[in-house]
Formats: sequence, structure tokens, C-alpha cells
Amino acid sequence: MAKAAWENKLFHDPAKAREWLEKLLWPDGPVCGYCGVTEDNSPLATRPGYYQCNACRRQFTVTVGTVFERSHIPLNKWLMAAALLCASKKGVSAHQAHRMLGITYKSAWFMMHRLREAMMPGKSAAPLGGLGKIVEADETYLGKRDGRPIGKSTFVTGFGWVQPRARYQTQRKSVSLVERGGAVRSFKVDSREQGNHLQHPVHERRPQVRAYDG
Ligand SMILES: [Zn+2]
Repeated sequence: MAKAAWENKLFHDPAKAREWLEKLLWPDGPVCGYCGVTEDNSPLATRPGYYQCNACRRQFTVTVGTVFERSHIPLNKWLMAAALLCASKKGVSAHQAHRMLGITYKSAWFMMHRLREAMMPGKSAAPLGGLGKIVEADETYLGKRDGRPIGKSTFVTGFGWVQPRARYQTQRKSVSLVERGGAVRSFKVDSREQGNHLQHPVHERRPQVRAYDG
């Protein structure tokens, strides 16, 4: 039988978690997170995972400069929290993380906050598209717009009072831009005017890119 993802040792052993992260972030050997010097450092014999940088004279670990920096929560719990967050389409509440990871609610809240913030595309994210790339736009209507009644209920024999289905006029509009074979970005759009979505997130795609309305 295949092993469950949660059985992976890096989720249960802080040393294994550190070794895994070191391999991932330092494929060519330790890099000082403070000054960026690669070759001039030596591991501390007394503290596994700690390195002495001879260039800036500081001690560093693999978590310096990452979201895991300066945390008292063991690294294996951090990796488990990140895996949990990535595997859950509907998100993970701090309460759920607190129960599943066996850490305090306060720690879980802090971890989820840090991880979510790190996962956001943010303003620094590069625009979609580029030379020869295709960006597609599509819109969808979700749920009910806040505070707007959908319409009058009607009495249907055998069912009782039935609310009419929300139509696009009374729903929230959202637009997604998809780069073929690349990233996806979604936006909430206020106006329902035709073609509006092609102007709204224009800063998110490179101006020379032609938008395909799918
Ligand atoms: Zn250094």
C-alpha cells in the first residue's frame, strides 16, 4: 500500500524537516541568509543546522530569510501546516490547524497568517503573459450580491415557498485571467458591463498581449 502523505518523516522529525529544507534551498551548499556569501562558512559542531559565516561573522540556519525564521514552533510542524494549506482547496482555519498539528491556537493562528501572506501573489508578482504567450479571460457569476433580494418567492405545490434562482443580474461577478500553461489570477468585478473585464485588471497583463475572451 502506498504511504500516506502525512507519514512522511519530514512532518514528524525537526531534523529531517531541516535537512529537507536545506536540500531544497541550498542545492549547492549552505548560503548565508544575512550576507549571501556561499563558500566562506563552517557548520557548528555543537548545534546541528547552525553555520558560522566567516564573511559577516554571524551564525545562520536555513530558515534565515524565510517565513520560518525566528519561530519557536518546530520546523516539521511548519512544513505540515504548509502542506495542509496547499492541499485544502477551501482553506484551513486556525482552529483546524490547532487540532490537526497539536499546537496552541495562538501558534496556529500565527502560522496560518504568515503562510497565507507568503502565498499571496502580491503587487510584486510579475504581470501575466509576455512575448508569444497567450492570456485568456473568463468571467463567472457566483452567489448573491450582498444586500440585494433576488426576487419574490412563489408557492409551488409540493415544495412550498420557493425563492427564484439568482440570475447574473443579482450575482457577484468574478473574472479570471489564465496564462496558458501558467498562472491564474481572479478578481471581483463590480460592473457588469460587457468588456469591462478586459480593462479592469489591465495592469495584471502586459499591454502588448492580446486578450482572448473565451
Ligand atoms: Zn554572512
